[in-house]
Amino acid sequence: MHETQRNVPFFPYPALFQSEEEQLTEIFQRVGRSGAFIMQQDLVELESNLAAFVGAEHCVGVGNATDGLWMGLRAAGIGAGDEVIFCSHTMVATAAAIHFAGATPVPVECGPDHLISPEAVAAAVTPQTAAIMPTQLNGRTADMDALSAIADRHGLVIVEDAAQALGSRYKGQAAGTFGAAGAISFYPAKTLGCLGDGGCVFTNDDQVAEKLRLYRDHGRAANGEVVEWCLNSRLDNLQAAILNYRLGSYDEAIARRREIAQRYSERLASISEITLPPCPTDSGDHFDIFQNYEIEVEKRDALQDHLKANGVGTLLPWGGKGVHEFRDLGFTCKLPYTERLFRRMLMLPMNTFVANEDVDYICDSIHRFFVAEMGSAEAA
Ligand SMILES: *Cc1c(COP(=O)(O)O)cnc(C)c1O
Repeated sequence: MHETQRNVPFFPYPALFQSEEEQLTEIFQRVGRSGAFIMQQDLVELESNLAAFVGAEHCVGVGNATDGLWMGLRAAGIGAGDEVIFCSHTMVATAAAIHFAGATPVPVECGPDHLISPEAVAAAVTPQTAAIMPTQLNGRTADMDALSAIADRHGLVIVEDAAQALGSRYKGQAAGTFGAAGAISFYPAKTLGCLGDGGCVFTNDDQVAEKLRLYRDHGRAANGEVVEWCLNSRLDNLQAAILNYRLGSYDEAIARRREIAQRYSERLASISEITLPPCPTDSGDHFDIFQNYEIEVEKRDALQDHLKANGVGTLLPWGGKGVHEFRDLGFTCKLPYTERLFRRMLMLPMNTFVANEDVDYICDSIHRFFVAEMGSAEAA
């Protein structure tokens, strides 16, 4: 018997405002009435709260994570003539940040957990390699012991694309704090989202922090003297106030995401045709925050159509292509493992607005898909 159809969007953007309309309106009024829009107290407080949250020396608010990444690279001394290794299963922003820092992006394969493969990194190191930029994808932190060992061996800098990983940990250490710098995104659909664009960069290096503060504000030093060419990428004070408010319940938001992941794991475990992400309670050194819930399945497109017909929104990661497959950007390499993954990956709804009943409904729909598949295979 089929239960009544539910409607589960991949991400319900209006809910980001509607679920907290009263509190957000109060913030608009307070900030608006005080005229505190740029580089004000809410930003200072957010930076200090975020640094404490991850255990970093410094947090610098920026306009978005993409800017944070290129400024992090530049602050760490990466530029023209340098190669930077990154994983092709990431947003184009990772590679763009490397490009705009003046360096050459070198894409490599990911491993079975969909994060950068340390073996692939080791194999891609050349005399020009200056840095590794691992993406802490889907809210999971890469094997930082292995990556740090490679970086130490070759004298490389690490700058983390931790856009999706605020609060994710590896062996107890937070994403964004392993290298010279690490950037977080506050894009609305990220685990800590604001109502527009926003980002921050973490660093434990005083000099890197000082440079980041220059870079985000026209190269101006605290005394107003302009000491370097730079652009404008500040985090709005209004967005900072919203983020500060949301940070107050962020631990609960992560706990809820992990609950949803656990529920997906349990209800989909019996389907042998699906490869699931690592289960939250069975992740060893990793504390995952589940920015996304990314499964692998051979009949991916048919399953996506089936879920759509059942009212469930899903998404192909990055529209269905690894960064190295954007040939117009000049990439020519082949990455067979990653290319195969991109024919198989599908992201299921994963956000704090997803109810247990939604997860059950989605999983039941998926089960029905495979029952029907088996029926038609037997009939053939
Ligand atoms: C969202 C995202 C970015 C870009 O973040 P913005 O704040 O939108 O610039 C970069 N890398 C990854 C992996 C992301 O998910």
